[in-house]
Formats: sequence, structure tokens, C-alpha cells
Amino acid sequence: MLKLENLSIAIGDKQILHDINLEIKDGEVHVLFGPNGTGKSTLIGAIMGFSRFKILSGKIYFKGEDVTDLPVDERARRGIGVMIQRPPTVKGLSVRQMTEICAGGKAADVAKLAEKMHLTNFLDRSVNEGFSGGEIKRSELLQLMAQQPDLLLLDEPESGVDLENIALVGAGVNHILERGFDGDQPAPLAKRRAGRKKSGLIITHTGHILRYVPADVAHIMYNGSLSCSGNPQEMLECIGNEGYEHCIQCRVQEAKA
Ligand code: ADP
Ligand code: MG
Repeated sequence: MLKLENLSIAIGDKQILHDINLEIKDGEVHVLFGPNGTGKSTLIGAIMGFSRFKILSGKIYFKGEDVTDLPVDERARRGIGVMIQRPPTVKGLSVRQMTEICAGGKAADVAKLAEKMHLTNFLDRSVNEGFSGGEIKRSELLQLMAQQPDLLLLDEPESGVDLENIALVGAGVNHILERGFDGDQPAPLAKRRAGRKKSGLIITHTGHILRYVPADVAHIMYNGSLSCSGNPQEMLECIGNEGYEHCIQCRVQEAKA
């Protein structure tokens, strides 16, 4: 689904990411951990193609095609969707209009999707204007449900979201990843694991989202490099108990051995 080859990214004159190699296969969900300011959002922005992230070297392949030089809208049409960390308010553009634009001609029953995300009463409000943290995330997911991307990039989907809303956010993510959506509740784990085709890359600090969306592989980003990969739950536990530096250390020692 996605392959990054020796990707180095700068913002202005400052190099943020160094030689990133990453492969996400069809149906896989990967999770990205890492301390603040280490370059996680930069990575997602670069994959989506936001112009402020300058590619110094390396390639981005999506579904086998080199998309390194394609603009954002072309990447979106090919099937990459993103939920950024702090989505802006768009005064004068209603959630309904935005969701219809995101559908890009695909069949999408906006009213039905809005009902699933408990956003029926939000459809005629301006995008994100006066929305709470959880409402913003649900509205972003509604747009992504209409877009139906094959690769879903999520930047801290649970930040600013209360526990009840996280379940709804998780259910929305499972809907987009086509892993079952039973009303407000996520489908049973076995059902969610079956028939996977769509892929995801999720940045999370707390790991709360992983209770609803099972991930296959986790990576730690440290100082702009992908330092190590492993089992998401084990890594989350290790980071919680020992901190990021410890996790990197075991990789450093592996390299020395
Ligand atoms: P993370 O998502 O891991 O917290 P980011 O990708 O948002 O990290 O940021 C990586 C680094 O890039 C940070 O040190 C941040 O300060 C820096 N950065 C972000 N925007 C700019 C900018 N416009 N100019 C210079 N540095 C920037
Ligand atoms: Mg970030």
C-alpha cells in the first residue's frame, strides 16, 4: 500500500526527518510512537504531500506508483486520506458541503454517515466552528468516511477526546478501514480482523485508540529517525514503564552486538 524509501524531509532550512524507510502492506495498520517534536506529524504531512514539507531525498510509493512529486489533491484522489492534529475552522462552509466535496463523486449517504457519527445536528454548521475536541475529530472522520481512502493517516485521533467519544472515533476509524461498524460499538475483534484490505498509519501518545483499532506493527520515531519497530502493545508498555530512550537503547545495543 505504502512504501517510503530513504525519505528525508525539511521544513524551511531545517531537516526534520532522516532516511525514513517504511512499508505498510495492504490491510495493515501501523502505529507511530515518539516524543513531542520528533517529526511524527511531519511524516504524515509529507506522505499526504503538504507543500511546506520539502523532500530532500527519497521516494514515496503508493500502491506501487511513485507519488513523490504529486500534489495533495492527486494523492487524495488516488486514495490517501488524512486527519491532521489541529484541523482549522472553515467559516461559511458547512459540514454537509465539505463532506460532499470529500466524497468526490463517490456515492455517500451523508445523512446516514452523520447519524453514525452522532453529527446529524452539525451538518449545517460551519466546519469546526465552535466544535469541541471530540466533535472536531468526529467531523473529520465523517469527511474521511465519504472520501473512502485506501490509506488512512491519523495524527493523534484521541487527543482532546473524552473516553466516550474515543469509542465513537474508534468505530469511525473501523468503518473507514472496513473492519465492521456496529452502531456506536466496534465490532467483535475477530470480525474486525477479517477481510482487511485498507491500511492505516496512526500516531498516538496514549494508545487509547488501539483498544478499538487493533494495530499490527508499531514504530518509534526519535530525533527524526525511525528507531525501532515491534509489537504495538509490548512497545506501548515498554515506553510507559521505561520511557522512549530505553526502547532506543535496546536497538543501539542490538546494532553493536
Ligand atoms: P511531532 O509531531 O513528533 O510532535 P512535528 O513533526 O510536529 O513533531 O515537528 C517536528 C519538528 O519540526 C519540531 O521540532 C518542530 O518545532 C519543527 N517545526 C515544525 N514547523 C516548523 C517550522 N515552520 N519551522 C521550523 N521548524 C518547524
Ligand atoms: Mg505531532
